[in-house]
Amino acid sequence: MPTTRFAPSPTGLLHIGHAASALFAHAQAAPDGRFLLRLEDIDRTRCRPEFAVAIEEDLAWLGLDWIRPVRVQSAHVADYAAVLEGLRARGLVYPCFCTRSAAQAEAAGAVAAPHGLGPIYPGTCRHLSAAERADRIAAGIPHALRLDVAKAQAQTGPLTWRDLDRGTIAATPERLGDVVLARKDCPTSYHLSVTWDDALQGVDLVTRGEDLVEATHIHRLLQALLDLPVPAWRHHPLLLDAQGKRFAKRDKAPTLHAMRESGKSAAEIRASVGY
Ligand code: GLU
Repeated sequence: MPTTRFAPSPTGLLHIGHAASALFAHAQAAPDGRFLLRLEDIDRTRCRPEFAVAIEEDLAWLGLDWIRPVRVQSAHVADYAAVLEGLRARGLVYPCFCTRSAAQAEAAGAVAAPHGLGPIYPGTCRHLSAAERADRIAAGIPHALRLDVAKAQAQTGPLTWRDLDRGTIAATPERLGDVVLARKDCPTSYHLSVTWDDALQGVDLVTRGEDLVEATHIHRLLQALLDLPVPAWRHHPLLLDAQGKRFAKRDKAPTLHAMRESGKSAAEIRASVGY
């Protein structure tokens, strides 16, 4: 009886790839488990309340139901900040003053772009002395906070995680480098908030697209550091369009809303993705 969740970011309308992902998560919880919906809206520059409303409308139209209340991450930013402060107090986090143009790997841990490996941060600011850090902070230079992955691993020792399709996997968070746990413009990150919330909400089977497999290595490390329960994972293949490209909001993939307007039924949409 697993607890699963669908955790979209309300940065646009849902498309058919989201429908497949939500139906997958829902099916994993059926018939006796719990299915949750979580809105991952910590990036206030990209998320919009009307998209959050539309997400619930689209999922209900598809015939899904979920346990309420819906957790809305932007309402819990102070909690994530407190978790991060705990890691900082243990010396596991350091300020990073690098700019994007310095070709750093903000993307690897940014809430805006959790997908894919992205460039690996070379650790430039990890080597700053305490005095250099203090000077820059006093000078008001904006900074992100990064996880010192090597230090973290030294505390946790080797870790594994279990994917129901892929088997037991040795965690290799170092492949993502020192990911960002708080961005310059946002006191948390995708990695931190998703890990915290899955534990808090009792999610014991994390389901999501296989584009996020790499992120799971970092989440496993964070779970060990924070002494959180360890779920199992399933990463579903991404739905591809006729050209073999994954559906993406930025490519203007046809939305569920548009499909509904054009007369498609929920049953047709479900059937088209195998449910
Ligand atoms: N919020 C993330 C996204 O929309 C998904 C997070 C997850 O399922 O772990 O890509």
